[in-house]
Amino acid sequence: MKKKNNLPSLIEKKTESEYANVKGIIFDIKRYAIHDGPGIRSTVFFKGCPLRCWWCHNPEGLRPEIEKILIEPGDKSGQQYRIIGEEKTVKSVMDEITGEVLFFDESGGGVTFSGGEPLMQPDFLKALLFFCQKSGIHTAVDTSGYAPYDIIESIIDMVDLFLYDLKFLDPELHAKYTGMDNRLIISNLKKLDGRAKKIIIRFPIIPEITGSKKNVEQISQFIASLHHTRDIDLLPYHQFAQKKYQRLNIINRMKAIPEPLPPQLLEEIKHHFESRGFRVNHGESNE
Ligand code: SF4
Repeated sequence: MKKKNNLPSLIEKKTESEYANVKGIIFDIKRYAIHDGPGIRSTVFFKGCPLRCWWCHNPEGLRPEIEKILIEPGDKSGQQYRIIGEEKTVKSVMDEITGEVLFFDESGGGVTFSGGEPLMQPDFLKALLFFCQKSGIHTAVDTSGYAPYDIIESIIDMVDLFLYDLKFLDPELHAKYTGMDNRLIISNLKKLDGRAKKIIIRFPIIPEITGSKKNVEQISQFIASLHHTRDIDLLPYHQFAQKKYQRLNIINRMKAIPEPLPPQLLEEIKHHFESRGFRVNHGESNE
């Protein structure tokens, strides 16, 4: 169900069997993931995102609906298609996840809900978190933070770790490069930090865009103003998704940005955050 402003709202489910039958659309479940939170994890990728970041590495997760894309052009007989996205019940996703619990237990891992934007399908997310919690599985939610706060509040006690994207402090730059301004994202992050939740900030480094000295300084000043959040994952930009943009017929606005990321820029930004007392890791982007 969607509100008029296009943000999702939450439908309360009452019984366990109702939770098990909630359906959602995902486009992948990645096993043995090691960059989406602690330990070895399974990452569930939700389809649909309210943002349109220029550098998004998962363009197949942007549209909320199941899509059919052409992977082999040619005459009609030679054309090959691939279906992106699948509707699944919570029960079927949990069946896949619980097969991996031994790896989770041995490595201190768990499940990460990513996307797309998992908060775009709040009932599905909430029901999955409910069963993970019941099974003692560590949970992480990888989010842009662009959702009504009541949705975040409704899941907060079932989430062990938030991986929270922070791209720009300037609302106009945020709107230019992601399609939406960042006021809701900033406000939600402050509230979440106020609840003393475990949060790791995920900062994508895009040369000449997010990686500017001014933006890095603004981001570090903002994080310093939070009361509990001191961990940052740096996500160096790469162009692995270029082909996906062609196949999905989505304009790739990042063609002019060279890769790999200059190591010097990564080191400078890492040093900047570390010298201000933050714990910094190099992550790998789902972004
Ligand atoms: S980078 Fe993340 S927040 Fe941005 S469009 Fe892609 S999935 Fe959405």
